[in-house]
Amino acid sequence: MDCLICNHHTKDTSICRRCEVTLRADLSQLPTLQQEAKNFLVPGRSGSGTVSTERSIGFNVNALDYSMANETISVLHKWEVPIRKGRSLTPPAYLKAHPTVELELEESVKFHLAHLEWSMDQEWVKDFAGQVKELYTKGMAVTKKFIEQPRRIPCPTDDCRSSIVMDINNLMAGVTCHKCRTSWTMYRLLTLAMNNPNKTFYLDMDAICLWLNLSPREILKIVNAHDISKKNGLYDIAAITKARDLN
Ligand SMILES: [Zn+2]
Ligand SMILES: [Zn+2]
Repeated sequence: MDCLICNHHTKDTSICRRCEVTLRADLSQLPTLQQEAKNFLVPGRSGSGTVSTERSIGFNVNALDYSMANETISVLHKWEVPIRKGRSLTPPAYLKAHPTVELELEESVKFHLAHLEWSMDQEWVKDFAGQVKELYTKGMAVTKKFIEQPRRIPCPTDDCRSSIVMDINNLMAGVTCHKCRTSWTMYRLLTLAMNNPNKTFYLDMDAICLWLNLSPREILKIVNAHDISKKNGLYDIAAITKARDLN
């Protein structure tokens, strides 16, 4: 058999394992991307609500669009129609709307994941997967995930104003500040930076997930519940760690 999505040969399934994993992952990420998009509405605005002078530079219309999720929800709802019809489920017209965009999106994603095995056998699966991929790609673009930002950490040495490029995947590796020449392991450096009362240290979602061994959903829950400070899609990792330890 050939995969309905990528045309590669498959053993006995209608879509190949790789396409299935991708489709599942793209779908599952949509709610997180939608939530994260809210942090990119205004460049340089901190989570505390203070408006910086950068605000006049502009407003990110794509991020706003994506955070409102109109397109995402309408695409997902559209694809619920053939599934509900084919599986004799309650037709969309009889469903109650959810009170928030977030819930609406989350429920639709849940629905699609629950019926994915069935959808994978339908001849329209390629169109479905293509549109989900498009939504995912838009989310990745508005949350700037395609841009590889070097992760920097403020040097914890007193009076040293340098910052150090970090490799979060390599916590036990040694690093040296190019200015004050102090050396630490990456792990020690991160711990020092997080406990530095004089400098707030912002880090991107992926790095925070790695550091705390939590999923983006779990991190966002903490961010929203504790009003964690944000900056250009980066989060105050010390505050997140503290909030997590409170739970
Ligand atoms: Zn495939
Ligand atoms: Zn230094």
